[in-house]
Amino acid sequence: EVLINQIAAGEVVERPASVLKELMENSLDAGSQSIEVQLMQGGVKQLRISDDGCGIDKDDLALALERHATSKIATLEDLEAVGTMGFRGEALAAIASVARTRITSRATGAEHAWRVTEREREPAPAALNTGTVVEVEDLYYNTPARRKFLKSDSTEYGHCDDVFRRVALARPSIGFQISHHGRVNMRLAAGDTERRTREILGDDFMAQARPLLAEAGPLRLSGYVSLPAYARSNRDAQYFYVNGRFVRDKLIQHALREAYADILHGSRHPAFALFLDMDPAGVDVNVHPAKTEVRFREGRAIHQFVFHAVTHTLASPVQ
Ligand code: ADP
Ligand code: MG
Repeated sequence: EVLINQIAAGEVVERPASVLKELMENSLDAGSQSIEVQLMQGGVKQLRISDDGCGIDKDDLALALERHATSKIATLEDLEAVGTMGFRGEALAAIASVARTRITSRATGAEHAWRVTEREREPAPAALNTGTVVEVEDLYYNTPARRKFLKSDSTEYGHCDDVFRRVALARPSIGFQISHHGRVNMRLAAGDTERRTREILGDDFMAQARPLLAEAGPLRLSGYVSLPAYARSNRDAQYFYVNGRFVRDKLIQHALREAYADILHGSRHPAFALFLDMDPAGVDVNVHPAKTEVRFREGRAIHQFVFHAVTHTLASPVQ
């Protein structure tokens, strides 16, 4: 069982950033309004995330670190729709198999909180006002071969920061905070999409940004596109979401590059924060649990739609 979990961990838990992604998605699934992330040594030494969500009751907490302990998929239709961000109850079990893991949680209405760890799976009473705190320490302490593949603290922190920004941009109505070694690096108050986009992408992006809104049948694309001069690097300013999930997809990237073709020069890159909403049945998001790929059923139509919407918006004046 431990071995199976460790094998699964190789898939799900590539590095601290992948742990952070799973934990933030769990906090979102729990209906949290405020999520705080604290990291030590790029998340390798410690990754702590606290939320004010619905919490986990004692019985579920006893199972939370076991494989396939998910509260989210009740039926086969659920599995197909994948309404929530979670992936089949493997994340916590996988994480607990390769790091010291502690979960403290107080379910809504419970008299007090309970705590489990990777070693003590019987819940013990604990103190916590609300929500859930997950602490993950010494990633890969028991699998040194894996640990060797981790990069420097600042590189790992950079990946965590990417994940944090990707999640936060898509959820402007939720407050977020991230700190490293006790220093708060980003504090995001609950707000609207425009404000959150400015916070994540910066004033330079916003100064040249054009709001985009396009609809075609069941397809809806919204967000901002900006001029390439303000994209500092590929990584910095390219955010694309499908039904709220961050994706980096070849087809989408191609459509965007085509739309920007006339105004791209030198080593500049398109800069955008775009949200595509569509029928979940038209897109397969389970190509890989930890990856950002998707597969569209009607790839050509999606490509055309995105290309036209972006081309049209780029041709319009800045507001
Ligand atoms: P999944 O998210 O696919 O269900 P996980 O292993 O990530 O699987 O989580 C297992 C279960 O633990 C979840 O289904 C949920 O019930 C519970 N859980 C995990 N994190 C939280 C949280 N922050 N708040 C409330 N419940 C949580
Ligand atoms: Mg999950």
